[in-house]
Amino acid sequence: MVHPCDALIVSCIDFRFQKYIRNWLDKNVSDKTFDYVGYAGGVKDIAIILSQLKISVDLHAIKQVILMNHEACGAYGVESTPENHARDLKKAKEIILATYPQLNVQTYYLHLDGEFEEVL
Ligand SMILES: [Zn+2]
Repeated sequence: MVHPCDALIVSCIDFRFQKYIRNWLDKNVSDKTFDYVGYAGGVKDIAIILSQLKISVDLHAIKQVILMNHEACGAYGVESTPENHARDLKKAKEIILATYPQLNVQTYYLHLDGEFEEVL
């Protein structure tokens, strides 16, 4: 039995960003329902994210995925550069679309000051 839901949100667990994320979600997807995955590193471990995404698709028939990585991510350590986050976000989007071409996937890089930078 499917309980329809609009979207899946994926972000890091990092507490420093939760308020920014809540505010952004209130502003940008307040009219939508969404599942939420909080996992250290955001999309860094793509296998974990895909396992959660599959459940979200199978149980809730989501149509949209919003992926958020962030600046100074401890799960990336010294690898936490804007280039690496952009690379992983783009790769995650590609992998997701290869399996679920019907999904609308958006990717964001969050700055420490709360800015949401869309990664295209
Ligand atoms: Zn992080």
